[in-house]
Amino acid sequence: MSGFFHEGDLVGVVTTQPLDRMLDYKAPEGGCHLGAFVEVPLGPRKVLGVVWGAGRGDYDRSKIRSVIRVLDVPPMRAEMKDFLTRAGAYTLTPLSLMVRLATRSPGLGDPPAMRKIFRMGTGQVDRMTPAREKVLAVLEEFGGLSFTLKELAEQAGVGPSVVKGLAAQGAVREEDSPRDLPFTPLDPSRPGKQLTEDQAAAVAALDRDGYSTTLLKGVTGSGKTEVYLEAVAACLRRGRQALVLLPEIALTSEFLTRVEQRFGARPAEWHSGVTMTERRRVWRMVADGGAELVVGARSALFLPYRDLGLIVVDEEHDSSYKQEEGVLYNARDMTVLRASLCGAQVVLASATPSLETWANAEAGKYSRVELTSRFGEAVLPEMRAIDMRNEELPGSRWVSPSLQKEIAKRIELGEQSLVFLNRRGYAPMTLCRACGHQIVCEHCDARMVEHRFLKRLMCHQCGETKPMPTACPSCEAEDRLAPIGPGVERMGEELAELFPDARVVVLSSDLYGTSRELKAHIEAIAEGGADIIIGTQLVAKGHNFPHLTLVGVIDADLGLQGSDLRAAEKTFQLMRQVAGRAGRAEKRGAALLQTFQPEHPVITSILNGDEEAFWRAEAAEREQAGMPPYGRMAGVILSGPEVGPVFDLGNALARNDAALKRVGAQVYGPAPAPVARIRGRHRVRLLVKAPKGAALQAAIAEWIRPVRLKGDLRLQIDIDPQSFF
Ligand code: ADP
Ligand code: ZN
Repeated sequence: MSGFFHEGDLVGVVTTQPLDRMLDYKAPEGGCHLGAFVEVPLGPRKVLGVVWGAGRGDYDRSKIRSVIRVLDVPPMRAEMKDFLTRAGAYTLTPLSLMVRLATRSPGLGDPPAMRKIFRMGTGQVDRMTPAREKVLAVLEEFGGLSFTLKELAEQAGVGPSVVKGLAAQGAVREEDSPRDLPFTPLDPSRPGKQLTEDQAAAVAALDRDGYSTTLLKGVTGSGKTEVYLEAVAACLRRGRQALVLLPEIALTSEFLTRVEQRFGARPAEWHSGVTMTERRRVWRMVADGGAELVVGARSALFLPYRDLGLIVVDEEHDSSYKQEEGVLYNARDMTVLRASLCGAQVVLASATPSLETWANAEAGKYSRVELTSRFGEAVLPEMRAIDMRNEELPGSRWVSPSLQKEIAKRIELGEQSLVFLNRRGYAPMTLCRACGHQIVCEHCDARMVEHRFLKRLMCHQCGETKPMPTACPSCEAEDRLAPIGPGVERMGEELAELFPDARVVVLSSDLYGTSRELKAHIEAIAEGGADIIIGTQLVAKGHNFPHLTLVGVIDADLGLQGSDLRAAEKTFQLMRQVAGRAGRAEKRGAALLQTFQPEHPVITSILNGDEEAFWRAEAAEREQAGMPPYGRMAGVILSGPEVGPVFDLGNALARNDAALKRVGAQVYGPAPAPVARIRGRHRVRLLVKAPKGAALQAAIAEWIRPVRLKGDLRLQIDIDPQSFF
């Protein structure tokens, strides 16, 4: 098929609207390329779409409308179309939603290649007002910098008309400027750090072009980042683009500074903190080749790279790579798909890889490169269990005397301690001592968690909050509500009491307004701004704490309970990661795990550092049970405002399972989901299990095809579910 359509030719367009088919349009005046981004009429609206192929021509030609215009961006490449098609087929997501994922950049369709910018002018102001003064003060302060109208008005805290008034008099100069400037080129020939033998060997092993996937395994601080930055350098030298994916929270300025030091300029950034204008610039420059390196969160995988040669997935085991809303995809797995289609290299970096990746490396599908020691003097922390059965501790206290003693030593030495507890808020449960009532969310079947800092109760499922009551909502007894169990805020209180002279800080995502504020705060703490840090899993991710030499885990048993298939794996990863925070600089650190079951196999393998033994045991158990990665799984979540119809639908699906049986798959359920109600919607779950080679997606598609969702019922399919909630 030719890659160009002449005016009037029929083209098939996939729009970003939730339709399950392509629509026919006539190519506009001047024609259009295959893959062109276009604006098309849909009913009374104009919508964004992509020319996917020739039109089908099965629609009354006289009613077919024309493409309104072709957007001034490079057409979608065949490789990208292929990627979206396959990723959609894998996750059972309609193509329109996949196209939407790939066009999440505002103003893509804005035609002008120029925009208005404002800078200091030379004209006189006829009448000075406080608002005008503010605008001029901003321009003065920022010297020669120029602003968009919106930026300048916002900076000055005035309305846009004030700026325009000044521009009319020439006191502010208004100019046309090309928008979406390319990023400063990166220079891979700048010298990197002197690598250790270990690191140099890893770099050599990664030096290859074309598709391959490699697990880069090494303890925290072993230099994985240093090594993959060399792989980025090699990719840039080949003239190809590189992408580094990080969990959102690990996208720190610390990391960006390291990139800048290595390559002499900053990379393009893509994450939730990036402004709309900047997003648009990144999208375009990625397509034009004006961005050589993108550092981003998972959705950066859907940018329109011109020639992607390398994708690094750092902390590849991190559960945030799985998107749990909208399109349910795992960015780590989709990375491998995308790379195989565009001939790129994949580097999966982790200190504690996911069992999936570990198994793929064992099976020889992925290569494996290992860094065995920490860089420089730093050695792995000493790991020990504190057997809580032998500790004297009153019921409402959680820091054991043994842990307390170790923290005291660190304070004396001027070193930092981290007290880790993966529970936000003050107390996970609020109980009435008079009647035994537990406060639960009105919309969800979940306990409300007290957040004393906010002075509110909060539901961690739906985010609903309400003031902390003084009387029991059930029996109305006054002042009998009691917090049960620890959260990080409560740990903060306990530690402040134990160490009144120490600087104690609590690090939890809900205590800071924006992720930027949070990151700035983490950086200040890392530089020595606290003696005792109390944190949730937030601190386990990718940040350096050079003064930290002690990690105390309040409840190492926490993750071992529960029915989650990945419970053991997650506990193992989290504990190892947290422990890895200790002793990154020159001093040897210690990690102490408070546990009631020190002989549990997960705890013992964490303590004695025998990772391979842990993986092998865990793999054997999953293989035995036919669980991923040795079998396939899909979750189906049905939800609706009334519980009856949701269960009826679940039962009907479970009964009509012929399509699943044909591929050897079995369906379990329906059962109430672990969180049986969220935001007032009742949730029912079915689980589909199939043998490894089964054509699961096709079978599921056939299975659910007859379903007609009535009223407000919803059905969501989660291929390779990561968690069950
Ligand atoms: P990881 O990514 O495995 O946690 P990093 O690459 O962040 O490890 O390395 C840990 C620390 O050691 C960083 O501060 C890094 O700059 C430093 N480092 C690692 N390798 C070298 C090296 N060869 N020369 C100098 N500093 C190094
Ligand atoms: Zn709720």
